[in-house]
Amino acid sequence: MSTPYDTITIGSGIIGCSIAFELSKIGWKTLNIDKLAAAGSGSTANSCAVIRVHYSTLEGTAIAYESYQYWNDWANYLGVEDPNGLAKFKKRGVLVFKSKVNDNLKKIRSMMDELGIRYENWNFEKIKKEFVILDDTSYYPPRRPEDPDFGKKNALPLFGAIYYPEGGYISDPILSTHNVQVAAEAYGAEFKYNAKVVNILKKDNRVNGVELEDGMVIESPVVVNASGPHSFIINRLADVEDDMKIKTRALRHEVVHLPAPPGVDYESIGCPSSDSDIGAYWRPEVGNHILSGSEDPECDPKEWIEDPDNFNRNLTEQSWVQACRLAQRIPDLGIPNQIQGVVDLYDVADDWIPIYDKSNLLGFYMAVGTSGNQYKTAPVVGKMMAELIVQCENGRDHDKDPIVYRLKHLERDINMKFYSRLREINKESSFSVLG
Ligand SMILES: Cc1cc2nc3c(=O)[nH]c(=O)nc-3n(C[C@H](O)[C@H](O)[C@H](O)COP(=O)(O)OP(=O)(O)OC[C@H]3O[C@@H](n4cnc5c(N)ncnc54)[C@H](O)[C@@H]3O)c2cc1C
Repeated sequence: MSTPYDTITIGSGIIGCSIAFELSKIGWKTLNIDKLAAAGSGSTANSCAVIRVHYSTLEGTAIAYESYQYWNDWANYLGVEDPNGLAKFKKRGVLVFKSKVNDNLKKIRSMMDELGIRYENWNFEKIKKEFVILDDTSYYPPRRPEDPDFGKKNALPLFGAIYYPEGGYISDPILSTHNVQVAAEAYGAEFKYNAKVVNILKKDNRVNGVELEDGMVIESPVVVNASGPHSFIINRLADVEDDMKIKTRALRHEVVHLPAPPGVDYESIGCPSSDSDIGAYWRPEVGNHILSGSEDPECDPKEWIEDPDNFNRNLTEQSWVQACRLAQRIPDLGIPNQIQGVVDLYDVADDWIPIYDKSNLLGFYMAVGTSGNQYKTAPVVGKMMAELIVQCENGRDHDKDPIVYRLKHLERDINMKFYSRLREINKESSFSVLG
């Protein structure tokens, strides 16, 4: 029986919508299915949406920088108007602190040099001039406030930071995902909401579509898993997990929203900042707030979640821990009695590097394991996945003969075996949200 869809993508987050956009652009008839009510309502909704280019691997840095080109030219990338308006890229640049733990950012600087990414070396005098609220005391290693050594100052202050102008953040990740949906719809893409996939159908040793919770069956010769923190559940439904050397799990994370110190318009002057000395990242947020997340220091227990439909969405003591850490770098920060913020899940791969790959089930693909750091790369991930799917459907064996994707702005190739489910653990990874 013929099916109206060349491909079904499970998930309409920023990754699933970007895949639909690229496949529909080349004439594929696509359908995205999401159990929630609208695009970007899953973990994308609570993303800090920081667009940075510093990663622990050259491939990670390269696809982040290539993706930055699309965020920086969002209207042209989309090519269509969205009646809801376009998400805004706040191009504030990014500040990354140099410290003993990151070896003065030696590795990151050398990768940026290799890729031609501009940055400036700032000493603390310059940092203070630009961001008056920041303090240079080193506290490494990051600790929890109950540790008697919390707040213990190291003899040497931080060395300074690098500042790179080609970065920033998106103020509204849900709107940006809607923008991509509308762009895909302009090429005929379809989106179905409030529909939960409960079964992956197979026929003649390949995927054949999906079954929804209400019993509806939708056939397609290609199914893509872009289900975010539910990725391991969908992979188990497809029975492809046992073949994977790298697997994914859902990890709970808290992000705090704190008022900026009195008298400082941080919303106007601030930029995304990354500080491994205190194990925190932060950026300006609307309402003159500062939003801050954890860079996963060893002292913080990891809260792996068995059921991504059922986890504690309330802030816990962890929010207070993160606020106290940030107050080390911003001494005038007030910590309210009632801390505000958001709680959501990362879809974490074993080595915190995503899996953009086929599977051992013909026609079943996955864009998973985004590990808290792949919102920014979605434009390139959509393109890489489209190329992978088209080539594999044309008979290429990506496991034996990996696809090489050309980053057109950087004029550089990415060998997609880097993202293979069959790779060994990548020891170059930070094993944290930094990727
Ligand atoms: C707190 C937080 C902060 C972050 N900060 C940053 C950042 O600053 N910069 C950055 O680059 N990245 C960041 N990330 C990571 C980034 O947001 C994610 O990598 C990205 O949003 C993942 O997109 P996705 O489309 O894969 O997943 P999702 O947005 O989660 O979309 C998956 C969709 O699949 C649907 N789904 C799941 N199961 C089913 C099913 N059975 N049937 C139908 N639909 C299903 C879900 O409803 C969901 O809408 C952050 C993540 C979090 C949680």
